Amino acid sequence: MRKKLIAGNWKMNLNAKMAEQFTKLMKETVNTDTADVVFCVPFVHLGMVKSILAGTNIKVGAQNMHYASNGAYTGEISGQMLASMEIPYVIIGHSERREYFKESDTEVNLKALTALKEGLTPIICIGETSKQRKSGRTFSVVRKQLAFAIDEMTAEDITKIIVAYEPVWAIGTGETATKEQAEEVCALIRDEIKASHGQTAADNVRILYGGSVSPENANELFSMPNIDGGLVGGASIKSTFEKVVNFE
Ligand code: PEP
Repeated sequence: MRKKLIAGNWKMNLNAKMAEQFTKLMKETVNTDTADVVFCVPFVHLGMVKSILAGTNIKVGAQNMHYASNGAYTGEISGQMLASMEIPYVIIGHSERREYFKESDTEVNLKALTALKEGLTPIICIGETSKQRKSGRTFSVVRKQLAFAIDEMTAEDITKIIVAYEPVWAIGTGETATKEQAEEVCALIRDEIKASHGQTAADNVRILYGGSVSPENANELFSMPNIDGGLVGGASIKSTFEKVVNFE
């Protein structure tokens, strides 16, 4: 039985004071009995958020990492650095990074493999654009991004990753995929993993949906058989986030 996981992606939001106040509020209100909860916060807040949440079951994650362990990459943060801070999760290949920072499928794969090597859990994002969906290419795009992302992973590696299906047209737009649209693609991802890495890997891998998840639609989305929770942007920095986590 896969436990649900709700990951909040704060993106580039909240200054230090706001992050401190919001984390304290979340510590009081978020109930982790039914779902694993992760806050993926800006690098500069990782230490503070982690220390406020110490003693709770809420985990902290980063929103990106470099695939090299160290070196002359000014402004970058490595997986090794995250691991040394005992940050267990990291988002890899978010569509905003793919679009604005031109991250390629190859880089996404390198980052995911490095994250695993460092003992981190990569939350690997894949999903089609509006244009790709409208031209009937959703399945082929998702298949290709997935195949690149998990290249060279073993079946055991697969059980340690999280895949987030995030249709680009649904991110930050308020236009959520229907539960049927989201389920169909999450089921495709599980089928692809079964074909490439076997039944056990497919049964164990957690597949999230992301794209304008809110307290209003969380229940119907997360109740679908192949959707194991969500990657939540805008709604994760609102006081009502606990309603997304406790969606039932
Ligand atoms: C995201 O940042 O991954 C995301 C899904 O954002 P939003 O929930 O705001 O659409």
